Amino acid sequence: MRIGVFCGSSAGARAEYSEAARELGRLLAERGMGLVYGGASVGLMGVLAEAALAGGGEVIGVIPGALRDRELAHPRLTDLRIVETMHERKALMSELSDAFIALPGGAGTLDELFEIWTWAQLGLHRKPIGLLDVCGYYRALEAFLDQAVREQFLQSRYRAMLLVASRVPELLERLCTYQPPMVEKWLRRGQT
Ligand code: AMP
Repeated sequence: MRIGVFCGSSAGARAEYSEAARELGRLLAERGMGLVYGGASVGLMGVLAEAALAGGGEVIGVIPGALRDRELAHPRLTDLRIVETMHERKALMSELSDAFIALPGGAGTLDELFEIWTWAQLGLHRKPIGLLDVCGYYRALEAFLDQAVREQFLQSRYRAMLLVASRVPELLERLCTYQPPMVEKWLRRGQT
């Protein structure tokens, strides 16, 4: 099983963010789970990859050529896949992964999380998606998503697809026991 991880290319303001990335990398390696990620050596991405590699885990990076050329690519991964565009990167990361986790991050992380979640809503895949809420970083996002449900822009069954936990072992457990809801592929016009 391989886990696709989206996370900050920055380390963030708190040591706990890096600690969580390190714990995730270590646990993935320990459990024989492969890591698929954005391929960079910076920020939480770098911490995560280092920890998985240090534990002897498989680490596949997927990076657009332009980012690699800016020397941000991690030099010692099991495999580094070079793609043309950010769109191709998301498609390949999704194809290579059996489940997804978002750690704290910025616009890039949110973009990747929301796209993979949207694909799940449309029934394009049935893979679990987890959000690691380190130090309450995603609390405001969760509150906003609850508001989206109340305001009837988001169905609660889709909201429930996003598995949230504050601890890495609990999140991995939830991903492994996830039962996807039945979602009809490509909703018809007028369906809610
Ligand atoms: P952000 O959360 O804005 O720091 O963006 C991080 C996410 O976007 C990661 O999951 C990456 O896939 C991608 N990304 C953003 N910046 C970089 C970078 N410098 N190198 C590699 N990937 C990046």
